[in-house]
Amino acid sequence: MSPHDPLLQFLVQTLGNKGVLTETSDMERYLVDWAGARGGLPLAVARPDTPQQVADVLGYCHRHDIPVVPQGGGSGLVEGALPDSHVPELVISLERLNRVRSIDPLNFSMNVDAGCVLQTVKEAAEAQDLTFPLSLGAQGSCQIGGNIATNAGGLNVLRYGMMRQLVLGIEVALPDGRLLTDMKALHKNNTGYDLKQLFIGAEGTLGIVTGAVLKLYPRPQVTRTALIGCPSVEGVLGLYAQARRHCCDLLTAFELIPRACLELAFEADATLPDPLDGAHPVYVLMEVAASGPADLDAMIEALFERGMEDGLLDDGVLASSETQAAQLWQLREAMLEGQQRRGEHLRTDVSLPISQLPAFHAQAEAAVLESSPESQVIAYGHVGDGNLHFNILPPGHLDDDAKRSLLHELEEQIFTIVGEYNGSISAEHGIGRVKQPPFLESLSAPEHDIMRGLKRLLDPRGLMCPGRILPRTQG
Ligand SMILES: Cc1cc2nc3c(=O)[nH]c(=O)nc-3n(C[C@H](O)[C@H](O)[C@H](O)COP(=O)(O)OP(=O)(O)OC[C@H]3O[C@@H](n4cnc5c(N)ncnc54)[C@H](O)[C@@H]3O)c2cc1C
Repeated sequence: MSPHDPLLQFLVQTLGNKGVLTETSDMERYLVDWAGARGGLPLAVARPDTPQQVADVLGYCHRHDIPVVPQGGGSGLVEGALPDSHVPELVISLERLNRVRSIDPLNFSMNVDAGCVLQTVKEAAEAQDLTFPLSLGAQGSCQIGGNIATNAGGLNVLRYGMMRQLVLGIEVALPDGRLLTDMKALHKNNTGYDLKQLFIGAEGTLGIVTGAVLKLYPRPQVTRTALIGCPSVEGVLGLYAQARRHCCDLLTAFELIPRACLELAFEADATLPDPLDGAHPVYVLMEVAASGPADLDAMIEALFERGMEDGLLDDGVLASSETQAAQLWQLREAMLEGQQRRGEHLRTDVSLPISQLPAFHAQAEAAVLESSPESQVIAYGHVGDGNLHFNILPPGHLDDDAKRSLLHELEEQIFTIVGEYNGSISAEHGIGRVKQPPFLESLSAPEHDIMRGLKRLLDPRGLMCPGRILPRTQG
């Protein structure tokens, strides 16, 4: 971009030299996401460090018809944050807007900038003996703004809910350059339409989140982690029903991990021990936590005994130290890395009624293996929320084009079955660009009209994240 370009001049004047990047080498890291997908070269990268600066940049773009895309930590899995390859966009990175503004321990709330990294927010809450419960594999890089934009879920949803349930107030730079401030730290507020919910899960298509009031909880004082080997997915769901009841609603995580995923974890990190004797078809990684006195060991041991008697589980280990618990969770992390190392594969993020998971799993696995007997199904996920990552590793001997075409076909089959169970094709990752075609197909006419109407109302020129969630022409 020439130094005389009016956009560049405006950005330098408004944000200072530190707030603008235009050299291709400086912009490189904003073009690639965690999964290795690549976007096009943007007009520039703007790095505002106040909410008003974000609003001022959007106002300028609105007046001059410049498309923009906000970026958080770049860990999104649906390519929403990558700059467009055909129509150059202005990337607005929130990375410098990263202050924890205040914490109110008695109100169980904290006020933060949208560019705060999730891990930083969690540590700030812990320093006050509180917890911000959103937990996910990317928490060292994803930002609160990105979490809000994608309505992130993660490991603790069954106890604390998704991001939608964890936001009390929001501050948003609107596409026309105004700042919407609804930063009330209220646990109850029934005054008309709940506008903040519009921006949660909107993936930046309706405005840029610049700040939020987050809901906190007492920090758990005792936490127990167990890995349990089960004979079947039915067994896992039977155990889940018992765990919800018999762990006094103190369950914080209940993850399904098939044996194939443990193998991927060992491939990624050979130092990780296999925690149980022998291999089991499926495992549960379970966590129970209490903020006051509770005999969690006795609770879990009783669950083991009952589950064993009922034939729901074969073996289990209760972590005896924090180190051992961390090792069990490391398996969950490493399996994602192992999956990534296998190259081209299908990643889905489907949601089903919890009770329907075993039937869905069996039907979808049979359909995939009938179409492609050499493919490997690796279905893991947050089963306590009915959320499965029903993923496929294609046969290794196919070239990348053949793999992509096979995986596309298999994805369509899986989504058809999801539809039969009245499920969702995106439980927590969002729509972005990647999931747009099946998302649009799934919309009823009223849903489509309302979404289009909201987009037109807030972003009449269609400049916010064009082509994500809704097609570009429908701004
Ligand atoms: C290893 C790994 C594990 C993961 N596990 C989970 C999981 O368990 N649960 C889960 O839900 N997700 C998970 N994710 C996905 C991802 O971490 C979440 O979607 C996260 O919320 C994205 O945050 P981010 O800051 O990285 O956003 P980005 O990737 O930068 O952006 C995501 C979207 O939000 C928009 N956006 C970003 N910031 C803002 C803002 N301030 N205002 C408006 N729009 C904005 C972008 O334009 C884009 O459309 C995982 C990802 C990885 C890599």
